Amino acid sequence: MGNAEKTGTTPDFTTTVTGSARVGRGRELKKATEAYWAGTIDQQSLLDTAATLRRENWSGLLRAGLDSVPVNTFSFYDQVLDTAVLLGCLPPRFDGIADDLDRYFAAARGSDTVPPLEMTKWFDTNYHYLVPEISDTTTFSLHPEKVLGEIAEAVALGMPVRPVVIGPITFLRLAKAVDGAGDPIGRVDELIGLYVDLLTKLAQAGAAWVQLDEPTLVTDLDEEALRAVTRAYKALAADYERPAIVVSSYFGDLGPALPVLAATPIEAIGIDLVYGDGDAVAGVPELASKLLVAGVVDGRNIWRADLDAALAKLGTLLGSARAVAVSTSCSTLHVPYSLGAESGLDDNLRGWLAFADEKVDEVVTLSRALRHGRDTVSAEFAAARAALATRATDPRLHNDELRARLAALGDDAATRGDAEARRAAQRERLGLPVLPTTTIGSYPQTVEIRRARAELRSGKINNAGYRQRMRDEIAAVIKLQEELDIDVLVHGEPERNDMVQYFAEQLDGFFATQNGWVQSYGTRCVRPPILFGDVTRPHPMTVEWISYAQSLTNRPVKGMLTGPVTILAWSFVRDDQPLADSADQVALAIRDETVDLEAAGTMIIQVDEPALRELLPLRDADKAAYLEWAVHAFRLSTSGIADSTQIHTHLCYSEFGEVINAIADLNADVTSIEAARSAMEVLDDLNGIGFSNEVGPGVYDIHSPRVPSIDEIATSLRQAHKAVPAQRLWVNPDCGLKTRKTDEVTAALGNLVAAAKQVRDELA
Ligand code: GLN
Ligand code: ZN
Repeated sequence: MGNAEKTGTTPDFTTTVTGSARVGRGRELKKATEAYWAGTIDQQSLLDTAATLRRENWSGLLRAGLDSVPVNTFSFYDQVLDTAVLLGCLPPRFDGIADDLDRYFAAARGSDTVPPLEMTKWFDTNYHYLVPEISDTTTFSLHPEKVLGEIAEAVALGMPVRPVVIGPITFLRLAKAVDGAGDPIGRVDELIGLYVDLLTKLAQAGAAWVQLDEPTLVTDLDEEALRAVTRAYKALAADYERPAIVVSSYFGDLGPALPVLAATPIEAIGIDLVYGDGDAVAGVPELASKLLVAGVVDGRNIWRADLDAALAKLGTLLGSARAVAVSTSCSTLHVPYSLGAESGLDDNLRGWLAFADEKVDEVVTLSRALRHGRDTVSAEFAAARAALATRATDPRLHNDELRARLAALGDDAATRGDAEARRAAQRERLGLPVLPTTTIGSYPQTVEIRRARAELRSGKINNAGYRQRMRDEIAAVIKLQEELDIDVLVHGEPERNDMVQYFAEQLDGFFATQNGWVQSYGTRCVRPPILFGDVTRPHPMTVEWISYAQSLTNRPVKGMLTGPVTILAWSFVRDDQPLADSADQVALAIRDETVDLEAAGTMIIQVDEPALRELLPLRDADKAAYLEWAVHAFRLSTSGIADSTQIHTHLCYSEFGEVINAIADLNADVTSIEAARSAMEVLDDLNGIGFSNEVGPGVYDIHSPRVPSIDEIATSLRQAHKAVPAQRLWVNPDCGLKTRKTDEVTAALGNLVAAAKQVRDELA
């Protein structure tokens, strides 16, 4: 199959998903992979688990009614890393590792001797991929064993396979140039030949269709990138033995890339009709000869589809394309497997939701309605309508009191007193030394903490017993910090399973799932809470813990809160109102918490916003509006307290890029940041935009177990002091200490305090 004549006549598919999760309903892949790393199972048993998961996934999709099943969306760690392996371009530092799978894992996680690839966020999602490195000496070669192996497995099971591979443009745009190499996109011609080769092999293996994922096409592209799109897809879709090609886009509209792509001879285009509107489709005549794969079911949020609206949208596309297939807006990698695994949902809430399994059913229903009429699936449509109707009237979605409170807030609700006046009031109240020392919040998650959580879950201890264990942890952390002579203490956050979930569990309007795991990266899975209603705070969330910690010491203890932007970024959010409105609601709850903390005697409150940059929209045109509401929400949450109460914030990065002005606009009294480059460079960047509040550049990297010496820390402090006067400079690690061991932390912080004292003496 798949010779030149047949490519034009490959039957269209009608019903599919862009891709699906791989970690397993019971997180089987995570468990097996970690067991393999720990040496408790052998490689064959990991491979067997993986094969079983793939088989179950494909069979489930076929049974549900798809007529094209995505294959090669399985991954042992990450699909971008898989593509780097496919294209034979892992950096040479991994060459020494003979075993293929171990080399792959080393690239993902590093080994004793080799650092891993860098990891970063996959577009504007919470999935993280490994960043391919491309230098001038990087060569490419085709290694299609993984995708061909999975096709063979699926074909043997009778699956209508559609292998999915990341396309060349996205691969190169996600790669980073190293060792002074030019923009990786310049290497596109070298990849085209490999992809042609690959496509031929896929056809020979039995694939009638191939899906090339090009999500980068929904971002702003320059002329060079658009020309690369044309060159690549003219060549890949030329006449030779190959499958029919669908180029899949997701996370937004294709914009200028749509006509460019449509002008190439590919057979189909996948578009996102949830985060994009698809309105441009009607203006592109070349689409008349193509299959449009319409992503009308939201692949990355958990809401049940409005089937009537989706069907209407599909109807508008019919006249513009050769045919329309129904699909998800993106891979369901980003949502949990099944609502069936959730108890604890009331009927209304359950009715509003759709996880991956339910989304597949929605796709199937819509496809039937499109082809055979709505009447053939009238029960499904009626059920969807009835469920959605309850969403419009459920009182939890419209809290009039809250809305009135927000509406009554004036501009001054997000404004604090003059920064200089605040600094003076705080200095007088806190009486801290110059170069005050502090930490970012969490202390090591000890075995005792984990054991207490497990015992609470299994019923071995009750709530009171659990709380006592947490108090013991807090007492130990306070004592340690006093012994280390740290100036501003923290309680250590032992009671928090996660910095977002902890708050979501206590706020009304959020639902915390029991099994709603999604892959964040590799074997790490998270359970994002679901923000479904208006947010209110039934009771204080942190005051008891912070007050207890403060009662144990005369030194100031920081209150620790997560900011509104980060809470939204790491949750599934409402789709029935602008994100800005949800942000203000969360901000008000955090603001109430700061007011209560202050009333309880807390003098310093830290509101973490590590996700401020993560939520930045993909298109330049949308960025300013986002930053405006994000900054407003932070300020709303931190402006309800007196000038003499000090607000800290923490950001987990130092490459501020497009958010640097927003960081200054947050107007926190003290901002702690990562300073992985050098403290001075980072501070120079901030100085460059007139940032004049206090700042704590991380003076050592907590992501490594290495204990930094006094000298090293003192050197970086002296460097920092060249950029920022001592009166504005804090001394702290670059992030929370949760992942470290107590011994490492004790030694490192001991050196941090010693270094601060040394530099203070030099200044005096
Ligand atoms: N306060 C949090 C902690 O110390 C901050 C975590 C973060 O920056 N992601 O763990
Ligand atoms: Zn951090």
